[in-house]
Amino acid sequence: MSRIKPVSGVTLDAQVPLLIIGAGAAGLCAALAAKEAGAEPLVIERDAVPAGSTSLSAGLIPAAGTRFQRARGIADSPQLFAADIQRKAKNDADAAVVDAVAQGAGPLIEWLADRHGLPFDVIDNFNYPGHSALRMHGLPTRTGLELINRLRSAAESSGISIVSGRLAETLLIEPHGQVCGVEILRGDGARERIGCEALILACNGYGGNPDLVRRHIPEMASALYFGHPGNRGDAIQWGEALGAQPAHLGAYQGHGSVATPHNILITWAVIMQGGVQVNIEGRRFCDESLGYSEQAAEVLRQPGGVVWSIFDARIAAVARQFEDFRNAEQTGAIVTRQTVQALADAIHVPPEAFAAELTETEALKTSAGRDRYGRQFAAGQHLAPPFHAVKVTGALFHTQGGLLIDAACRVKRTDDTVIPNLFAAGGAAVGVSGSTAAGYLSGNGLLTATVLGRLAGQAAARGRTT
Ligand SMILES: Cc1cc2nc3c(=O)[nH]c(=O)nc-3n(C[C@H](O)[C@H](O)[C@H](O)COP(=O)(O)OP(=O)(O)OC[C@H]3O[C@@H](n4cnc5c(N)ncnc54)[C@H](O)[C@@H]3O)c2cc1C
Repeated sequence: MSRIKPVSGVTLDAQVPLLIIGAGAAGLCAALAAKEAGAEPLVIERDAVPAGSTSLSAGLIPAAGTRFQRARGIADSPQLFAADIQRKAKNDADAAVVDAVAQGAGPLIEWLADRHGLPFDVIDNFNYPGHSALRMHGLPTRTGLELINRLRSAAESSGISIVSGRLAETLLIEPHGQVCGVEILRGDGARERIGCEALILACNGYGGNPDLVRRHIPEMASALYFGHPGNRGDAIQWGEALGAQPAHLGAYQGHGSVATPHNILITWAVIMQGGVQVNIEGRRFCDESLGYSEQAAEVLRQPGGVVWSIFDARIAAVARQFEDFRNAEQTGAIVTRQTVQALADAIHVPPEAFAAELTETEALKTSAGRDRYGRQFAAGQHLAPPFHAVKVTGALFHTQGGLLIDAACRVKRTDDTVIPNLFAAGGAAVGVSGSTAAGYLSGNGLLTATVLGRLAGQAAARGRTT
């Protein structure tokens, strides 16, 4: 299938000022912002009910300097946030985009809360790796399903048209290279062509395209893909056909804590609160506290590609704020025993090796020393009976590579000029994680979906051809 087609000789079925492809967090934030700025967006979505990877996520968005943080006495700033993003990305992320998302995240959260009624609060009982302040904002259930449902309700209340069951296939191009429409496959097999003055690509990355994953992220080629299967890399393929510049295609968000065989995300709070991971030989194998994204490949390198996360009742109480964790408990994924020996027997790991690991890490919590991998445990995070274990594997959550954009989300060509009326946000655009899985700071996914979505919507509405 050709990804782009000249518009000459093509009859349009409709013409809209602003078309948005994809009704995940990026597309809906773009639509809300564009509508507010006076444009009439039309959102098209391949699925019958918009969900995307957004619905599968924990719905947590990092933001600095919000009123939710101030109410809890949390000191933070966009500058500190930007420095955290770049430290994790090894300074390999575009500085202008990092500044835009770090500056825009606080206003984004307050806009969604105050104007659109999303009841955010800030998680204040554990922190994620690499964030130097408590800044993860979430909705009551801590689920992305709640986030997407609330965004969709906000869009509907704002009178935004979302047309589902429409797969965008081909971009229509004017002779001088400007995008002027999209050819769409409808659920009934018919095709329609919608002209537009501006187009926002909000159709995420290529995690759902095994060929592209094999080509760009071979280490995750056979891993469980835990994101939305409909995200098949259309944005980068259109972009490449247009002479746009994809970047950091090997970067991704992995996760080293998906309960198996139940396929339920187990929050990384279990590790950050003093839990550890052991392989089926009862041995620890790395510094788990560096980040859950890089931990996916570490877990997959262990025998059988599975490990056990070990924690206790205190940690379970923190984790229980997540609906996913409560579901994991209900489905029987969490093993509980009163002693280390009994837990070792229950999960079939060699008891001596397992007990030796726990004895060592508990001692380090008292001495504030570092383990052989460099992990330093916080004082006061001792594990006490009853002990818990959950068997987990590593998974690919979403790709972080995408189209290079400027700070107004306009897609850049390989010669660094921009395609004036083509915008990208969320997983369609290159992320702020640099070129590796380890560069992913928790929350970078929804950060770039929501904040860049809002910026793209504003920019597209402001001047569709400037
Ligand atoms: C299990 C899990 C947990 C996560 N937790 C978090 C978290 O807590 N915090 C965080 O920051 N990030 C998290 N992430 C990452 C986050 O979910 C994504 O980065 C984010 O949702 C991307 O938003 P998006 O709008 O770009 O894409 P999506 O939400 O995937 O939306 C893209 C939409 O485009 C549609 N689409 C695709 N192609 C086409 C086409 N050709 N035509 C029409 N429609 C199309 C898709 O159907 C989809 O609805 C998590 C991811 C997973 C998988």
